[in-house]
Amino acid sequence: MTFSELNLIDPILQALQEEGYTSPTPIQEQAIPPVLNGDDLLGCAQTGTGKTAAFSLPLLQRLHEAGPAHPAKAIRALILTPTRELALQIGDSIKAYGRYTKIRHTVVFGGVGQVPQVEQIRRGVDILVATPGRLLDLMNQGLLSLKHIETFILDEADRMLDMGFIHDVRKVIAQIPANRQTLLFSATMPQEIQKLSSSILREPVYVEVTPVSSTAEKIAQKVFFVEKTYKRALLKHLLKGDEIQRALVFSRTKHGADRIAKELSKVGISAQSIHGDKAQSTRVKALTQFKNNELKALVATDIAARGIDVDDLTHVINVDLPNEPETYVHRIGRTGRAGAEGMALSFCDDTELPYLRDIERLTKQTIPVEEEQPYHADYQKLPIGGGKSTDKARSTPSANRGGGQGRSPRTGQSQNSGRRPDNRQASTQGSGSNDRRSSGNRGGRR
Ligand code: AMP
Repeated sequence: MTFSELNLIDPILQALQEEGYTSPTPIQEQAIPPVLNGDDLLGCAQTGTGKTAAFSLPLLQRLHEAGPAHPAKAIRALILTPTRELALQIGDSIKAYGRYTKIRHTVVFGGVGQVPQVEQIRRGVDILVATPGRLLDLMNQGLLSLKHIETFILDEADRMLDMGFIHDVRKVIAQIPANRQTLLFSATMPQEIQKLSSSILREPVYVEVTPVSSTAEKIAQKVFFVEKTYKRALLKHLLKGDEIQRALVFSRTKHGADRIAKELSKVGISAQSIHGDKAQSTRVKALTQFKNNELKALVATDIAARGIDVDDLTHVINVDLPNEPETYVHRIGRTGRAGAEGMALSFCDDTELPYLRDIERLTKQTIPVEEEQPYHADYQKLPIGGGKSTDKARSTPSANRGGGQGRSPRTGQSQNSGRRPDNRQASTQGSGSNDRRSSGNRGGRR
């Protein structure tokens, strides 16, 4: 399929050609027609699937075809996204795709002065890309109004929930006219998001690509059993070699990310950390250096890494295993993009064995253990058939701290589910892309 078969107009086709996009991705194929048609949409897709263009292209086209805003300078579309990085990336995409239209946009997010953002809005924008906190702030100061919004897009809804933004999101939605088009994107569909979707979407078209439980086939995965105390030594060992040219390294904590970056720099491995406590300008600088190949390692927390989009990233290294298996899938999805080969290396200490088991269960894959490494600890994997780990079990301190290598793992931990519900785990595994539409009378509204 081509973009012109999706009935996109020339100014947009021209921009896509210049971006080097030859054909639509599955989410674009599925989402563009209903969004152009004015339908609501529930999109189950993660970053890397091309979802930004899936909603931006038809949005730009609808606004372009509708002509100038009425009243003049009214904000006609709102895109709400959880992080500054994502907001900026969406802004960049809109700029690129809309370069031959007259649609104006701006991006607002916290952590920087509001004056330039407010000035942009005063001059008039058709599309506002925003993070929830700053948006509410500006709304509360009476500096912008959402009463002319015709299209509302909620991006990464599950992350909004994880980051505690869901109340802010609801407050924002309360200010948008009910007679609007709404698009909601989420990589996973926990119950809270299902509830939100059914309260804000009207007879949505449902599209789903790359279920979160299926890790990209191109990504080779390995797990390294290593005691917590030796994790940073192992990381240095791996990064000193030539095999890894550039790696995105994940740390569970901000402090951990800083410490890792510092230690790597000390031994001559160029590295920077990014996380929520760093100034926006510092984060952007680190990301730019990383994209320009000036850094061998970018060490990030999950939230800061959200939406990082580096096309030829060859390695993702998990220094800590995440306690949510979906997070693992998100993390490793940063590599193996755009047809490139990708590799995900994960360090696992004895306290993380339950997380590894949860990941293997979710992805329905066995991750091979790399034993040919100097810090190998002789753990045994927990059986996949066991129950789910509790949060209590997950936070058990390492029995190994400061001890020798090669202890056996603990077994027989209390195994009650402490995870948020995810009703998609089994049913969508490996199904690839598909297009399920909700039943009922669609499209009668517009
Ligand atoms: P996203 O999922 O929106 O974060 O997009 C992931 C990456 O895919 C971005 O670098 C986009 O520029 C790129 N991309 C999106 N759509 C296409 C397409 N149809 N062809 C090639 N690259 C694309």
